[in-house]
Amino acid sequence: MERRIFTGRQNRYVAVYRPEHPRAWSTGYVYEHVLVMEKKLGRFLERGEVVHHKDDDGHNNRPKNLELKTRSRHTAEHNIERGSMVLVACGWCGGLFELQGWVYRQRKAKAHGDLFCSRSCGAKKQHSS
Ligand SMILES: [Zn+2]
Ligand SMILES: [Zn+2]
Repeated sequence: MERRIFTGRQNRYVAVYRPEHPRAWSTGYVYEHVLVMEKKLGRFLERGEVVHHKDDDGHNNRPKNLELKTRSRHTAEHNIERGSMVLVACGWCGGLFELQGWVYRQRKAKAHGDLFCSRSCGAKKQHSS
């Protein structure tokens, strides 16, 4: 049986146990949408590439629902206020999370740039630039 878990902020995503994968976390898991996209492309994702879910449902990892985007374009296409909420794209992994509009604006003002889904994503971004 394949080991699958729900993960990410608000458990929006599915991860699969694949410890040998180059993108595996220290726990041995990798995002399932990354694996599906890599299979579709026939290569590993490159740095700065993220996988977008067309219907914004992170559990829907059918190849047709996935689209490859650059990180900057992905961030620009999300991070738009709809009603009182903003669907924010992490500046490192592209993972989405929701924030109240006023929280988003406050964090954005403090961050001077991208927002991240987790501390570890923020740290990775700092190390790479
Ligand atoms: Zn997206
Ligand atoms: Zn992230």
